[in-house]
Amino acid sequence: MIPKICALGRWHSLKISAQLQPLPGIRLWSERLGATIVRFAMPRRPPARFFFLLLALSLLDTIPAAAQAQNNFTYGPLPVFELHSGFWINLHHTLYHEARQRTAAASPDKTSKTSGPALHTEPDAKPALTPAEQHQWDDAVAYYVSNYAAKDLLFSTELIQLKDQLGDFEDCDELSGRKRKFCDAGLPAKLTQVLEAAAPVYRAHLWPDHDRANRRWIMRVAPLVREQGVGLSERLADIYQTRWPREKIRVDVTGYANWTGAYTTADPLRVTISSLDARNQGTEALEVLFHEGSHGIAEPVQAAIIRECRQRDKAIPRDLWHALVFYTTGEVLRPVLGSSSAAAGDQDGPGPGGYTPYALREGLYQRGWNDYFKLLQKFWQPYLDGRASFDDAIARMVSSL
Ligand SMILES: [Zn+2]
Repeated sequence: MIPKICALGRWHSLKISAQLQPLPGIRLWSERLGATIVRFAMPRRPPARFFFLLLALSLLDTIPAAAQAQNNFTYGPLPVFELHSGFWINLHHTLYHEARQRTAAASPDKTSKTSGPALHTEPDAKPALTPAEQHQWDDAVAYYVSNYAAKDLLFSTELIQLKDQLGDFEDCDELSGRKRKFCDAGLPAKLTQVLEAAAPVYRAHLWPDHDRANRRWIMRVAPLVREQGVGLSERLADIYQTRWPREKIRVDVTGYANWTGAYTTADPLRVTISSLDARNQGTEALEVLFHEGSHGIAEPVQAAIIRECRQRDKAIPRDLWHALVFYTTGEVLRPVLGSSSAAAGDQDGPGPGGYTPYALREGLYQRGWNDYFKLLQKFWQPYLDGRASFDDAIARMVSSL
């Protein structure tokens, strides 16, 4: 079985094996069984430790972000997903984002994509970097320019493994293991040095804002996941004629993700979502979560499309499968988000016209997928309505290509 790896708008394939094994109940840490396939000589993640629940969640908006900042915030209990705000994985994406920005600024081609929106902070909200801090930060960004900026967060195996490893070590305040041996993340020595040197600068100047934005995003989507998560996961799995992953899907919420605002990688199945990206806000966050999560279960659709194309000796449409996932998630969530009590209490929730799915709101169909959209409305919607079979719907779409 070959699940698809997704960013909103792109996908590719990787092999999947290990799954997550979360602990039940309220916890700020998760134990994962099964090995992450790694390129570096990476040790297993550090042993499980429990942290005191430091904050009343209702006080998130009133406690200064700096007072909350720590290495990791994992919210639970929730069904289906586990939502993290981790220090190292946020630092990594921020350095990657800045490296892409610097690369783009230096390039005559100004159309190259960066990894997300700029962080908007109040002028003079915090002191500027000291010359020493600026030097450390610039060195780290330069390292990312040289080693990672030309690589894609979604398609580079090296970057995928690095991201996963930094997520696994989110409870450590170092990556070298100098102070605590189990905090040796096994990264290349130079990268470890770069990240540890940039860490105090990031912690002092950007992490409080990123962590606060991440936690706010988590706390806004959590009631919807709690209320609707199980039903939506079962409905989507039924549609794709499979089962939703038994273990909760880890979601790393980060200030910056990739240029599409969210992406999903396999082996293990993990989602990264930007808390600052305008496309991921309000009740739309729930659709982004389930769109990304659907990449772990939608393989039967891709297989059926390929099978039908081969039977008809037709070229396999590269993005029909992905358009179908967008369409399906949007249509399944549309009635839920149009009537959810959680959504009704959200100031950013749906207006009187109800919920507009992501692909329509962001104009994805207008950017080359309009023919797919018509096919989905004509042949896939009847399947969603229970008026056609899965096989018939796929066969009719393919025969009409
Ligand atoms: Zn996708």
